[in-house]
Amino acid sequence: MFYEDCILCPNLCHVDRRNETGVCRQKDRVRIAWSGLHRGEEPPVTGERGSGMIFFTGCPLHCQFCQNRQISGSDGENYGIDITVDEMARLMLSLQDMGAATLNLVTGTHFIPSIAAALDEAKGKGFSLPVVWNSSGYESVYGLELIDPYIDVYLVDCKTLDKGTASRFCRTPRYVDAVIPCLDFIKSHHPSTDLDAMKGTILRHLVFPGELGATVSFLRVFAERYKDAFFLSLMTQFVPPLGNLDFKMLSEDEYDSLVYLLEDLGIDDGFIQDPSDDDVLWIPDFTRDVPFPASFADPDPYFLSLKRR
Ligand code: SF4
Repeated sequence: MFYEDCILCPNLCHVDRRNETGVCRQKDRVRIAWSGLHRGEEPPVTGERGSGMIFFTGCPLHCQFCQNRQISGSDGENYGIDITVDEMARLMLSLQDMGAATLNLVTGTHFIPSIAAALDEAKGKGFSLPVVWNSSGYESVYGLELIDPYIDVYLVDCKTLDKGTASRFCRTPRYVDAVIPCLDFIKSHHPSTDLDAMKGTILRHLVFPGELGATVSFLRVFAERYKDAFFLSLMTQFVPPLGNLDFKMLSEDEYDSLVYLLEDLGIDDGFIQDPSDDDVLWIPDFTRDVPFPASFADPDPYFLSLKRR
């Protein structure tokens, strides 16, 4: 019933996804692009062996420079395989058997009702990993109310709070109006963060090239509204998609100015990416069994069996 008049994200398409698609370009049948252990997430979520990822195909946003464009639909591609709720539950159990530290659901907004059903089924069969909701911060409050009871850790983006930046990078100024209610909902339901106990929120922000002013504005709002509730993960390495290499990347001086600003604003809980560490500059290729550098990831054997059937 949740898919019949879809309002799971702020696009509020009101389409009947049994027969048609909205902005996310997905019907009610779950489609995923990859599943396995991944060691590139923030350390508490990754643990020793990796975070147990499920990457969903489709996205309610179509950002200009999406790194996952093969699967997000930003260019009209729709790479992935269709699976049932029962298969998703088995995938969750399989990730647990692999030794995953967490279950990490990546851009599942448009499949929230199916994910909730799969989690119910998996829990009935012994699934007990902390559940991480890894999203763009682009859920409707209605969608969040459905998924929140299942979530231990939110790993959400706040891409920008500047409408011009949102238009250039997210292809919609609506992002700015949508992300604040989303973050306020999360804060009201999870008012503190304790990553040792796997509870709370890591708020990610990527510094867009040439948009340092937008990052400064975001950090001021973060310090005012969310600092006491969320950890910050400040990412400084924008990875241009292939063929778009003419961006002015963050300079050392700009990076230093951000570090000083964090100190000034009293933001001391969190993570900041070092822009001189170029080990992580890659774009995943989801057509491969391991879309990431091999040292970062192990595919789930059950996922591979579904992919090859
Ligand atoms: S999930 Fe969002 S984009 Fe997709 S159909 Fe529903 S409201 Fe539209």
